[in-house]
Amino acid sequence: MFTYLDPAVRKRLVDEGKLIRMDRDGNRLAPEEKTGGQAISMLGPIPLPLHLGDYEVTVDWYACVRNTELSKVEELADQLREQHTQKLFANLASSMAVNCVLLIGDPAAWSNPLIRVHSSCLTGDVFGSQRCECGPQLQLAIDTIANDPEGGMVVYMSGHEGRGIGLWAKAATYLLQDAGENTYQANRSLGLPDDSRDFSDAATLVRHFNGTGPFRLLTNNPKKIQDLAEHGLTDVIPVKHVIGVTDANRGYLKAKKSWGHKIDPDDIS
Ligand SMILES: [Zn+2]
Repeated sequence: MFTYLDPAVRKRLVDEGKLIRMDRDGNRLAPEEKTGGQAISMLGPIPLPLHLGDYEVTVDWYACVRNTELSKVEELADQLREQHTQKLFANLASSMAVNCVLLIGDPAAWSNPLIRVHSSCLTGDVFGSQRCECGPQLQLAIDTIANDPEGGMVVYMSGHEGRGIGLWAKAATYLLQDAGENTYQANRSLGLPDDSRDFSDAATLVRHFNGTGPFRLLTNNPKKIQDLAEHGLTDVIPVKHVIGVTDANRGYLKAKKSWGHKIDPDDIS
């Protein structure tokens, strides 16, 4: 597991430039450079051959984690290694949010790439649940970026399940929704925010690959644009990203629309 890298392996990856750290503005740090704020560690590129419908595309996958989370886990991993208690390593892994970048094309050649910042959704992305439209949105994003002349990237935020409340609470909100509440009311019934997602790591990763230059963002969510702007990304053109509307999620999309998402009435009628 990469979190508990043997120091010799870690050194090799650092020497090869495949394990790097960046500051909150996305600037690469020297291997031993200290930071006051939270840095992000990133492993990659790792070629990932994807099969999308009727064609294949190979993207560069990067795994990214906050240094603060990583250092806590590494410290515990060292202790466990000394005690030879390997089976507890799985518990450490579960305490880390490892975000991902799927890179398509050459960032050095970008002038206005296409970007999707996607919040993880196990039920939609993996199981294909139609209670939301996350799965088709992710597929369409990769597909659209792969077919864009300039390319771009997907930033996959693994800690964003249920708009930041986690998978356990999300399961509870589904039960509340089935009892008549909408997706936002259900969060409030649990005493949780409508949307507690933190996009600062996503902004750091976008800045690492694209600086603060212009980009097109596949989203219907004005709050996402606002959040990225608060982290220095202001040159953003939103690109509408509506797909996967079914009878099972029409009510969910209507709630999102009334919450502020840019979804046309025709899209969900
Ligand atoms: Zn979803």
